[in-house]
Amino acid sequence: MDDWQRLLQGSLRKPEEIAQRFGLELEDVRRIARVFKIQITPYYASLIKNRGDGLWRQMVPDPAELREHTGEADPLLEDEDSPVPGIVHRYPDRVLFLVSHSCASYCRFCTRKRHVGDPSKINPRYIEGGLEYIRNHREVRDVIISGGDPLMLNDRRLEEILKGVRAVPHIEIMRIGTRMPCVLPQRVTEKLAAMLRKYHPLYVNVHFNHPDEITPESSRALNLLADAGIPLGNQTVLLKGVNDDPLVMRGLMQKLLAVRVRPYYIYQADYVNGTEHLRTTVEKGLEIMDALRGWTSGLAVPYYCIDAPGGGGKIPLIPNYLQSINAEQVVMRNYAGELYAYPQVKQKAKRKPRPAVAPCFNFDGPMP
Ligand SMILES: *Cc1c(COP(=O)(O)O)cnc(C)c1O
Ligand code: SF4
Repeated sequence: MDDWQRLLQGSLRKPEEIAQRFGLELEDVRRIARVFKIQITPYYASLIKNRGDGLWRQMVPDPAELREHTGEADPLLEDEDSPVPGIVHRYPDRVLFLVSHSCASYCRFCTRKRHVGDPSKINPRYIEGGLEYIRNHREVRDVIISGGDPLMLNDRRLEEILKGVRAVPHIEIMRIGTRMPCVLPQRVTEKLAAMLRKYHPLYVNVHFNHPDEITPESSRALNLLADAGIPLGNQTVLLKGVNDDPLVMRGLMQKLLAVRVRPYYIYQADYVNGTEHLRTTVEKGLEIMDALRGWTSGLAVPYYCIDAPGGGGKIPLIPNYLQSINAEQVVMRNYAGELYAYPQVKQKAKRKPRPAVAPCFNFDGPMP
């Protein structure tokens, strides 16, 4: 058994342990545990400084989870876009390949709350079926290996999957989505990095939500991956009481860049059953984006997206910089709120036929 597997075995998961460690009512924890999986690695638990802080809110179960019935079980309709078990094929040229049902720590806001930790939902037997689907679909050029957390698999099983996908001639890139560098950075070993680098071009997207999650241990893990030539991106979920503050979010984005991770997405929290106490408004998300762009490195500014309920995919939202647009000029505001005008190119007198689909502009003014 590897070190990380030993550490994982020591995770907090029994309701008695959780209640005692965090000073919760045992009966509350038992009731939550019947509905949603609970598990926290000792490493992640050690990063929690105070009751109710940004790390606590992500992992420590809250009785509010059982009171909230507003969200849905599968808001993104991933099940509907699943042609075979373990594959979600929503976009033209890329698929999600779900290869593990478990995670090292279970996030209270998880979109796949209904899948994670349930071995019947993402079955190891489905992996061959998923590979078969990828082989048979030549339009797929990008495979996103996800779960659960794919780094819960041991190196040997993970390598089998990477090898299988890499052997498909029409697959150009592979990506792994994992929260391990955040919740169990000991999972990232030299051995793992040496294995992964054999399967380039390979990207890894990690998941950090709070600056306190960037520690010497997580930095070591990220550096090992970056040194293996793996471009690193980060996905953050906007969460109430965790990172719904422009300064906290800016701090997180800057700290990520310092460990060679490029912020990729900030997601509006999905509309999931039992997560209402962690959701915040879209206005807050736009305010945070406004507080990033221009005020810090452009590299620190990810896309802010809502994964549209009903299976519409990720839709980016951008603060409104365009004040007006007509045939003469475009009036914009800059990051500091000052107005600037850009002269339009002179149009020929004779008008071209209008395109069949009118272009859409993100602005409030009249159409030109
Ligand atoms: C997020 C996601 C992808 C990848 O989207 P990118 O914008 O390319 O990162 C692919 N398929 C599904 C179903 C997704 O949810
Ligand atoms: S690591 Fe990802 S899949 Fe696992 S519980 Fe957290 S959000 Fe869900």
